[in-house]
Amino acid sequence: MFSPHKDFLAHTLANAGAEHSASHSILSAGTEVTFLDTGIIRFEPNTAATTSLVISCGVHGNETAPIEIVNKIISDLLDEEQKCTQRVLFIFGNPLAMVAGERFVDINMNRLFCGDWQHNDLTLPEVKRAAKLEAYVANFFAEEPVTVTQRLHCDCHTAIRESARQKFAVYPFVEGRELPQSQQDFLAQAQVNTVLLQRKPANTFSSFTSLKQQAESFTLELGKARPFGENNLREFTGIDNTLRKLIAGEPLPTCMEGAVEAFEVCHEVNRSSEAWQFFIADDVANFTEFKTGALIEQDGEREYRVGDAPEYIVFPNPKVPVGHRAGLMLKKVGL
Ligand SMILES: [Zn+2]
Repeated sequence: MFSPHKDFLAHTLANAGAEHSASHSILSAGTEVTFLDTGIIRFEPNTAATTSLVISCGVHGNETAPIEIVNKIISDLLDEEQKCTQRVLFIFGNPLAMVAGERFVDINMNRLFCGDWQHNDLTLPEVKRAAKLEAYVANFFAEEPVTVTQRLHCDCHTAIRESARQKFAVYPFVEGRELPQSQQDFLAQAQVNTVLLQRKPANTFSSFTSLKQQAESFTLELGKARPFGENNLREFTGIDNTLRKLIAGEPLPTCMEGAVEAFEVCHEVNRSSEAWQFFIADDVANFTEFKTGALIEQDGEREYRVGDAPEYIVFPNPKVPVGHRAGLMLKKVGL
């Protein structure tokens, strides 16, 4: 299917940006495989599937560990060493950035979803790719048989920054939605014990599947970004095993109470002027804890200090332009 390349990843890297015509094959167990586009492949079992599962990675091209994990799962499916009882759509999000070994080439793709690509330069490859990914995912869900009762999407990333909590999930905001037990079980099984509950709509890939496609979805930050071949894949066995169980249709055990800790944003740090000061060191890890009263930011009369309970910083970046978000302060919340 990937000839002359040895696997899906090698094919994707060799054909990034090339035109692709879809091809089909049927595995001996009856699973239909459709190679839809460069970096996009679908598996459909011929039995009554109950789940449509989208597994994406490489939306940021230098976040290689999940790409290597997913590539191996695809090889095992094609070799029929991995059982397949559910529908699965695999996506390597940004092949051109993967080739470049960069987070992105022209524009951060994970800010282009929920139709935001329409407001950008449509000649840019990443803008076109985001539009295509939305279409492939929408078609994948639209074509599901009536037996399917759940839609899932895991968008797998690794972070640039160190994190006091090495693995964490971001759960997109959908009005009135709470994190269900089944998704807590998924996170615990994948050894992702921290979840950030978003409280307003975003334009990430997982927000698209949650908001526009009624999927249960996560952006998963699974560790530190490293170049291809330099990852310690043992750090990723939790997500590897859990994705394989979902694909095989095996039930996930119910997690212990407290296995997953939830956080929400309590303050957006804003670089409000040239005089603005930020009191967090450049190299501080995500989820570093700050105690009550700690001064976080100050701009003339305006200052922000940690409130009555400890707060935690994520995505600090004081080098943003004036008027932009320079980090988020979180607090713990119950599930
Ligand atoms: Zn990423």
